[in-house]
Amino acid sequence: MIAHREVGDGDQGCDTGGVAEPGTPPVDATGSICIGCGLCCDGTLFSHLGVIDESDLGRPLQALGVEVIVEADPPVFALPCPAFDGRLCTIHHLHRPRACGWFECDLALAVARGELHLAEAREVIERTRQLRRRVEAGEATDAELRRQVERWFRAPD
Ligand code: SF4
Ligand code: SF4
Repeated sequence: MIAHREVGDGDQGCDTGGVAEPGTPPVDATGSICIGCGLCCDGTLFSHLGVIDESDLGRPLQALGVEVIVEADPPVFALPCPAFDGRLCTIHHLHRPRACGWFECDLALAVARGELHLAEAREVIERTRQLRRRVEAGEATDAELRRQVERWFRAPD
């Protein structure tokens, strides 16, 4: 388990409206950085996503079979999220948990602040996706992936 994204983590989210959501990132400063990424939804950055309650989880995710782990504090559901199709959040136009709209990773923030070019950020994303695949294939370690995540996407807790 790498981490757990709680409700309220981050200042914003990656949503087309301007917050962090994999698949519908800010269309302003960060352009479309989250499209084709989704590392915060597929279990790479976080193992779980915090929700307020069942209504925050919402019917679209419930319909995909997602269940809230109510014993956790705050309640969570497990990632990878079934709404992520490998490129986009397929329910971004419907109801999503509030945390989906709040989170924005360090990489997206760096692009938004002009500290990193979009092309460079995309290379980091691709390298991270490749590293995750190598971990899944047993060709790299979880520790390597964690270091990559902590260097580019989120500081350790
Ligand atoms: S990890 Fe960062 S860049 Fe990727 S989808 Fe999430 S917020 Fe966007
Ligand atoms: S609903 Fe799932 S795929 Fe969509 S932004 Fe939230 S965690 Fe990501």
